[in-house]
Amino acid sequence: MNALSRNDRAAWLMGPSFKCLATPEESRGPAWRLVLLGPPGVGKGTQAELISACLGTCHLSTGDVFRAACRRCGGKETPAMAAALEFMRRGDLVPDDIVWEAVRERVGCLHCHGGFILDGFPRTLSQAESLQHLLEEERLPLHAVIRYSLPLEEIVARLSGRRTCEACKAIFHISTHPPQKENKCDHCGGKLCQREDDRPESIAVRMEAYKNSTAPLIQFYQNLGLLTVVQATGSPEQILERTLAALKIETPLITE
Ligand code: AMP
Repeated sequence: MNALSRNDRAAWLMGPSFKCLATPEESRGPAWRLVLLGPPGVGKGTQAELISACLGTCHLSTGDVFRAACRRCGGKETPAMAAALEFMRRGDLVPDDIVWEAVRERVGCLHCHGGFILDGFPRTLSQAESLQHLLEEERLPLHAVIRYSLPLEEIVARLSGRRTCEACKAIFHISTHPPQKENKCDHCGGKLCQREDDRPESIAVRMEAYKNSTAPLIQFYQNLGLLTVVQATGSPEQILERTLAALKIETPLITE
């Protein structure tokens, strides 16, 4: 079994009634509970995957929840989900109540015995406060909030060159991490696509949303004594190394 299949991330993506297959009895080292913060394109998704592979934690991304809901509905989404998807297409934040409903209904995922990495959530002060209350209620304190930092020009270059596999969600970049065959995923042969919100007009809206709504979370988590800053320059592996060092983790527990 590889590291990622140890956690049933599908449950997080499949809506309220989907049963998580991860067995709570299984014990495999400390259960890390982390939040990844940083502007779009800084590499949070890639780092979340790499950290998960090392520590056996569940990678939970609200952006992935919405994209999965969109695929599942096949054009027949509820009015609330249709509105959420329209916000997403434009690069705007989805309203807090819709996001919170999606998180609240899968609260069991936060109890995952392997721990969790939240990627793209929380994104507003109100979400951060709600999450903090929930984690206190559930007695699941966070261990750390990692803030990835990167100059703006590099962020825009990363976003506009990013391509994602439609099937397995693997991430490539047209210049820094190109696939072996043009537009084909190296892992599963799936088609590589540019996310709708990685187009220039949406990137500008997303950066603005980050500056106005998400950047204040830096102070929020600093006040809670949880914030750790990691420079997001260099290769994904170099950033991972810095992240693990910041968490004072010497040896990755799971390497596959
Ligand atoms: P991401 O994959 O994290 O970049 O998210 C893609 C898009 O999903 C964002 O630009 C938002 O439109 C929406 N989204 C994801 N997570 C949240 C959140 N926590 N709050 C509001 N909108 C979100």
